[in-house]
This record gives sequence, structure tokens and C-alpha cells, in this order.
Amino acid sequence: MIDFSLGEEQSALRELAREFAQREIAPRAADYDRQSKHPADVLEKAHQVGLMNMVVPEEYGGAGLGMFETCLVSEELCAACSGIGVAIVANTLALTPFLLAASAGQMETHVRPLCEGPHLAALCMTEPQAGSDVGAIRATARLSGDRYVLNGTKTLIDNGGVARLYSVFAFTDQEQGLRGLSAFAVPADLPGVSVGKHEDKMGQRAINTSEVIFQEVELPVESRLGAEGEGFSIFIETLNRNKAWIAASAVGVARRALQEATRYAQEREQFGRSISSFQAIQFKLADMAINIEGARLLSWHAACLVDQGAHHAPHSAIAKCFASDTAME
Ligand SMILES: Cc1cc2nc3c(=O)[nH]c(=O)nc-3n(C[C@H](O)[C@H](O)[C@H](O)COP(=O)(O)OP(=O)(O)OC[C@H]3O[C@@H](n4cnc5c(N)ncnc54)[C@H](O)[C@@H]3O)c2cc1C
Repeated sequence: MIDFSLGEEQSALRELAREFAQREIAPRAADYDRQSKHPADVLEKAHQVGLMNMVVPEEYGGAGLGMFETCLVSEELCAACSGIGVAIVANTLALTPFLLAASAGQMETHVRPLCEGPHLAALCMTEPQAGSDVGAIRATARLSGDRYVLNGTKTLIDNGGVARLYSVFAFTDQEQGLRGLSAFAVPADLPGVSVGKHEDKMGQRAINTSEVIFQEVELPVESRLGAEGEGFSIFIETLNRNKAWIAASAVGVARRALQEATRYAQEREQFGRSISSFQAIQFKLADMAINIEGARLLSWHAACLVDQGAHHAPHSAIAKCFASDTAME
């Protein structure tokens, strides 16, 4: 049976996120966005009420919930401010390489301490010369005795300048092409790790997006997530799994746009009537509502497939594409 009605706990979680967004995010959104200010105070409160690290198992300090619940939270937070909302939810992205490939020991060492406070992780793949073309990255992790030595510059990293932990992708064997890519857990306080340029973005300005630089960073071999050469498959699965909540964040933005447009259409009067009484305006608002409903259902469907462990890559891509196009329109 197909059933998209929310259970009691899911409804309560959505209500919690909605109230939190209205109380803690909405009043600060314009200011933080204008200043491109990292929302540390909001993160602290979000952590207190349990809105961070939804997909991390409870034994490691997370909420032990699924991608579906992450979508519910993401939509609500991003309807108030997509920058602050994504800053709160983005640990889901950065910690997915751990959920996919970390041992119990690595989860204890890296993930549990992170989840115990309002701390952030960041996913580091993109480099100045390598965006879509992941195989063009230049970061390397050279094995030297019982350590890897990491070198590379990562760019456009969400929460990059404020994270405590990085999941970093680098070549352990460049000769092997994408099969020579590996994933690593890199604490931000290791010698050789530094933060570079802060991106002065056009949108989502309240989330810190920065360059992160790794210079001769020594990592014990236990820092590697998964086997050598598994980095590309870990990365692709990480991207695919996270498309559902990113789609939901776009649904939040689109929903807010509809709310604001409807309010304005009802307020604004021309020819002695509210412009919302004109059918041309009603058609526009109806099209927005149709696309938002469709985008939400696509994101929920993709999230359900992720939570069921079912094949989800095309559904996740469709959801992210449709929802982000809807938000941009
Ligand atoms: C706000 C923001 C936050 C980000 N956060 C992170 C993060 O936390 N961690 C991280 O690692 N990265 C992050 N990124 C980087 C993001 O993943 C890259 O922007 C993405 O990989 C695309 O790379 P690019 O911007 O260099 O575009 P390019 O790869 O240069 O692409 C430019 C254009 O060419 C098109 N194109 C490229 N290849 C093809 C192809 N084969 N066929 C057809 N068209 C193609 C693209 O669709 C695009 O329109 C972030 C980016 C932004 C903007």
C-alpha cells in the first residue's frame, strides 16, 4: 500500500521544526543573509532541540531517524532561510561517507564527539579546476609508513570555514584514475589544515562556504574511510542519498515564495480590486502550488527509497532537479 500520511512522531517532528524555524530562524534570516554571517547561535539551539544529525544512529549521538524525517525538517527550516536551514542539515551530507564506510571505531572517534555538541562537519571534494569532473581533482594522500600525507585545496565547501571534521576525497593512486580515489576523516585541528577564501555568494549567504586547504597533513592510516580506491563509489552514493533532503530544502524555498506571492496578491489592489481576483494571477499561483506539491512528493518518494535501501539514484536526481527548478522559477 502507498501511504504518504505522516505518523504521530513525524507530525510532531515537522511541527517542532516549523515552530523552531518561525521562532529562531525567520527573525534573523534577513540580517544573517545580508551579512553572510555564520548562524552559530541558531545551530546551538537546533542541536538542543534535536534538529541536527537526523540520520546518525542514536548510539553515536544522532536522532536515529531516516532521510524522510530529514526531508520534513529541511523543508521547514529552509522555508524560513535556506542558508541557515542548510547549515543545520548539512551534517547529513558530510557524515554520509562515515555512515557508508566507517568502522564502529571510526564512528566512536569522529562522529560521536561531533554529534554531542552543535558541531559541524563538511564534505570536501570540489577543487578549483574540478567540479562536475571529479576525476580532475589534484588532492593526494601519499602513504608514508603508517601515515598518509594529505595535500590539496578544496573549494566551495559548505560549512568549510567552521567545521570540526572534514570528509575529504583524495587520490591514493593517481594512475588508477577514479579507482585510485579514497575517502578520509580529517579533524579540522590537525597541523596543516587551514581555511582559505570565504565565498561571498549570491544566495544562501547565511551558510559559510569556504576554501579548505590541506598542506602536508599527516593522517594515521585509521583515518581512511573504507578501502583504498573506494572513494569514488562512496562519493557518488553520498551525493545520491542526499539529493532528497536538498530537494526538500528547495521545496521549502518555493513554498515560502508562494506564501509571499499570495500575501502580496491579496494585499495589492488595482482597478478597485485585489489583484488576486484576476484569473491571470490565480493561474500563476496555482502553477506554483502544483509544482510545489509535485516536488514535495518526488522528494518524499526518493527519501523513502533511500530509507528502504532500495535503488534510488534516478528518483533522487529527478527530485533534486524538479524541486530546484521549481524553487528557481
Ligand atoms: C553553494 C555551493 C555549495 C557547495 N558545497 C559543496 C560542498 O560542500 N562540498 C563540495 O565538495 N562541493 C561543493 N560545491 C561544489 C559543487 O558540487 C560544484 O559546484 C559542482 O560539482 C559543479 O561544479 P562547478 O560549479 O565547477 O561547475 P562545472 O563542473 O564547471 O560545470 C559548469 C557547467 O557545465 C555543465 N557540465 C559540466 N560537465 C558536463 C557534462 N559532462 N555534460 C553536460 N554538461 C556539463 C554543468 O552542468 C554546468 O552547467 C558547492 C557549490 C555551491 C555553488
